[in-house]
Amino acid sequence: QATDTLAREGPSSPSYDWFQTDSLVTIVVYTKQKDITLDSVIVDHQDDSFRAETIIKDYSYLINIELSHAVQGDFSVRIVENVGKIEIVLKKKENTSWKCLGHPLENHNSLVPKKDAGLFYRQCQLISKEDVTHDTRLFCFMLPPSTHLQVPIGQHVYLKLTITDTEIVKPYTPVSDSLLSEFKEPALPNNKYIYFLIKIYPAGLFTPELDHLQIGDFVFVSNPEGNFKTSQFQELEDLFLLAAGTGFTPMVKLLNYALTNIPSLRKVKLMFFNKTEDDIIWRSHLEELTFKDKRFDVEFVLSAPISEWNGKQGHVSPALLSEFLKRSSDKSKVLICICGPTPFTEQGIKFLHELNFSKDEIHSFTA
Ligand code: FAD
Ligand code: NAD
Repeated sequence: QATDTLAREGPSSPSYDWFQTDSLVTIVVYTKQKDITLDSVIVDHQDDSFRAETIIKDYSYLINIELSHAVQGDFSVRIVENVGKIEIVLKKKENTSWKCLGHPLENHNSLVPKKDAGLFYRQCQLISKEDVTHDTRLFCFMLPPSTHLQVPIGQHVYLKLTITDTEIVKPYTPVSDSLLSEFKEPALPNNKYIYFLIKIYPAGLFTPELDHLQIGDFVFVSNPEGNFKTSQFQELEDLFLLAAGTGFTPMVKLLNYALTNIPSLRKVKLMFFNKTEDDIIWRSHLEELTFKDKRFDVEFVLSAPISEWNGKQGHVSPALLSEFLKRSSDKSKVLICICGPTPFTEQGIKFLHELNFSKDEIHSFTA
């Protein structure tokens, strides 16, 4: 009954079906939406339980079943975009005919607002860890073979560790393995790897524990969250990114996506706020990118330069912003993305409004 009510308010009710051959079982989700992509569906198959969560606009449609027979660990996911159909193809362990798909588990076949869906976690293995600055590292985790998960651009996930018998959870934003990577072939294929740039705070609760993980250790990774939509890039001409410290992380995939996929784009400018030169994440990548792509420019602003610094100094301010945020033409379509410590983001948004940028022209990244 509750599901029916929600379905009437939300997207037209999705449904599912299944069919089989001797060796395969195909589960089909009919989303009844056209803008479904491979990152709209998250599939986890653990032991006998099979879980597929489909994000349809701001709703989550769940299939959660204890399968009646065993299947192999890996599976494939296909999208038939023009009809909004998702096909998940499982391989049977034995070539027998299944009488039913299985038994429903919690919340099976339900459609709920995404914010009420709760987070699902799977264990991911630490594959590598590399220093990026004196306190920030690039972590690479591998998803289990029985998981299909692609984090949409601009979204974050939660990492979970058990620290002295207590589960601690913190949000982190996946990045690419390099700022320049998506312009070439990814170093590791298959979307099986998730990268994070994470600053270690010696007195922090979570990050020192994360830093102590050994290669091969596990951490729990949640489903994605966040409200950035790549449709905000439609017809975009000027993209301005305001990042402070690790607030740079959402900008990594955003930059790659915009420069590769938005033909209308004329200019992308990043203003990157840090305390000192040593704190700047991927400075050389950013500088290289300005040579590779003439549309891109970067400006570094330091709040506590230690050595002689010829560049800009200080905190975010109306003066810095008004000089930086020059449209390529009077009426150009702009988007300003902002991310960093909360006071930075709040002050930044206030100044942007004072400079007459509208709500629709600003996207702030927060939890
Ligand atoms: P905390 O225990 O939270 O401490 C952080 C710092 O504050 C430490 O220096 C600590 O000593 C100090 N501190 C703690 N409590 C106090 C207090 N009461 N008074 C004064 N100082 C105090 N971070 C990244 O590195 N990479 C990312 O990609 C990333 N993505 C994020 C995405 C989102 C949506 C959000 C909201 C945050 C993101 N963060 C990211 C930040 C991350 O979630 C954690 O907040 C960060 O890693 C710190 O965690 P911690 O438990 O180690 O430190
Ligand atoms: P940091 O302490 O190294 O500071 C970086 C810069 O931020 C400073 O140089 C300064 O210009 C500015 N800044 C810091 N405090 C300020 C203040 N009170 N007022 C105005 N400007 C200020 O930053 P960090 O340790 O790298 O922290 C990054 C922050 O970004 C964290 O709070 C993290 O939670 C947040 N973050 C949020 C998201 C998200 O919401 N999606 C993603 C990544 C990081």
